[in-house]
Amino acid sequence: MLLIDKQKELNKISENIKICTKCSIGTAKPFGLDPHVTFEGNINSRFLFVGFNPGYNEIKQKRPFVGASGQELRETILNYLKIKENDYFICNSVNCFTPQNRVPSTFEINNCFSYLEKIIEIVNPVCIILLGTVPVKAVLKKNDFIAKLICQKFKYKHYDTYVIPHPASKFRNTYNEKMWYKALEYLKSEVKNFNDYA
Ligand code: SF4
Repeated sequence: MLLIDKQKELNKISENIKICTKCSIGTAKPFGLDPHVTFEGNINSRFLFVGFNPGYNEIKQKRPFVGASGQELRETILNYLKIKENDYFICNSVNCFTPQNRVPSTFEINNCFSYLEKIIEIVNPVCIILLGTVPVKAVLKKNDFIAKLICQKFKYKHYDTYVIPHPASKFRNTYNEKMWYKALEYLKSEVKNFNDYA
């Protein structure tokens, strides 16, 4: 797809997300704010990250991954994997804020998946990285514990797909922190292969 067409298609999806009311969370006004947040990044990126859904900081700034977890992704993960600033795209499994920041429901994940499916198709990355349980449920349709899914390569359609724990889980306990670094270490060795062919 031509760059200009990619941008046009993504703009269309973004406009649709912004007015979407397929779930009740799409009609809410948390803290008096609009609940929808879309995606960002280079549309020709090789690496596409998928998170949960926007939190308070995200709906306030209207950008994905700008809270503490976002900082962890943008600084720690990207640096660790040596992914360049213009080589990643970030989006969420569910594009609306959830009350009390609860984990999105299966209904919401399924409702929002049509957007994610199109985004992946348009960006057409070489590799998809799923950050935690919600994107795993959305993309791989799996309900397993994250510990069972790290350090493996999956296929979503023809895309190489990897799982790492959500950045927020890293600080919960030592077990999570160890699992987090184990997952990143494996991913780093895989990403190195992609970088060697850059
Ligand atoms: S979560 Fe997704 S499908 Fe549901 S209202 Fe928001 S944008 Fe629409």
